[in-house]
Amino acid sequence: MSGRPDVIVVGGGIWGASTALHLVRRSPGLRVLVLERGPTLACETTSQAAGQIGQLRANPLMVKAVGRTLALLETFAATTGHDPGFVRSGSLHVATTAERMAAFRRTVEGVRRLGVAAEEVDLVRAHELVPRLNTAALAGAVFVPGDGYVDAPRCARAYAAAAADAGVEFRTGCEVKALRTEGGRAHGVDMAAGPLDGGVVVVTGGPWTARLLAGLGHAVPAVPIRLQQLRTVPDPGLPAHHPVVRIPDASCYLRPEAGGYLYGYIDPHPLAVDVGAAARGVRTADIAVDEPLMAEARGRLAGVFPSLGSLAVDHYRQGMVTCTPDANYVLGPAPGVAGLFVATGCSAMGIAGSAAVGAWLAELVLDGRSTDDLSPFDPGRFGARAADCDWLVAESRRVYANYYSLAAGGTTYGGRA
Ligand SMILES: Cc1cc2nc3c(=O)[nH]c(=O)nc-3n(C[C@H](O)[C@H](O)[C@H](O)COP(=O)(O)OP(=O)(O)OC[C@H]3O[C@@H](n4cnc5c(N)ncnc54)[C@H](O)[C@@H]3O)c2cc1C
Repeated sequence: MSGRPDVIVVGGGIWGASTALHLVRRSPGLRVLVLERGPTLACETTSQAAGQIGQLRANPLMVKAVGRTLALLETFAATTGHDPGFVRSGSLHVATTAERMAAFRRTVEGVRRLGVAAEEVDLVRAHELVPRLNTAALAGAVFVPGDGYVDAPRCARAYAAAAADAGVEFRTGCEVKALRTEGGRAHGVDMAAGPLDGGVVVVTGGPWTARLLAGLGHAVPAVPIRLQQLRTVPDPGLPAHHPVVRIPDASCYLRPEAGGYLYGYIDPHPLAVDVGAAARGVRTADIAVDEPLMAEARGRLAGVFPSLGSLAVDHYRQGMVTCTPDANYVLGPAPGVAGLFVATGCSAMGIAGSAAVGAWLAELVLDGRSTDDLSPFDPGRFGARAADCDWLVAESRRVYANYYSLAAGGTTYGGRA
């Protein structure tokens, strides 16, 4: 790119790629530069994700965000020539207790009011949809036909390729060391090679966002928490695709991948990660596998998926999801610094909301406001409490541990019901 970029995006994960894409779609000719520290785009959190995009959410803003992502992905390959690996599989939510089933009904009622197709199905239908399911262990099920999943890093690269077609420049191997400000306004970044000027700076640095903002004295209210999943060896006869299965009573999700099962576990005693603990900073590849924890997950799934029992582990995948004390994203202008925007706190829903995140940031950067009320995501919403590390970690762990908890409005699904 010759000349000064209008917008510098720091971080080339799925949020950075989506932001760049939406910026140039809304403002053709805008000079957007994305700086990624790693050797390739989407090499950190995004590379580990299951990529599931589900509409059963307690928070109406998140239901809308997920709907925008599904709408974008439906036609993405055909309209851009870049395939995000989207599968419209639907999702099946299974209850092992009557109490859970009652909560599902409340959640379904809530999302149907927002226009999402979701229906209770009988156990014969549930078995047709997911043949290995032991329906004798179930109290009921709900099917959401419009849900799906992507190959998450492929999706991020597809967003990036479409953005590059429209003129965005992506530079990998470029670590931003500090954000440059003057007179309360952002005006660029510092890299090892020297300073780089830019009109507006957007930080989509995933678990490392707080470190960059700390240099400006701003506490970002998001805590990296370990999330683990694994894939089994192939199970002969398992269909290539079936609906994503959510088993909240086991705190697990599961779907087919590469002939085996991919399943993940929302740990009830979550591990918060201090990304500054190592001198060079803790990276996704440094997160150690916790085999006993994943064995615990398998035990919890055994009643519902007995066929899992005999399958060896093919490989583990793990990373850090950034969690917040209220399960809402952190997205908006950084308090006290004009021209600086931040987006993190994905709350394990960053792929699902990726299109909306990019669209919202593009609106904020270009128009100074969004068509949606984004106050629940305001980076400054916790005030001085965000600087209280003990409080932040304790609350974020509590919210993550309750990802699938039962609440008055239904199952929380990472939000508040
Ligand atoms: C095991 C697992 C399963 C998951 N499953 C799902 C799922 O099914 N559905 C879903 O919606 N979400 C899921 N998630 C969450 C999802 O992966 C995240 O929400 C999403 O990837 C966040 O994207 P991001 O761009 O914010 O972060 P990242 O992908 O981490 O990208 C941030 C980028 O910023 C770069 N960066 C940081 N600091 C700097 C710097 N100083 N200079 C330059 N570059 C920098 C990093 O190198 C990184 O590439 C899962 C996560 C995990 C770990």
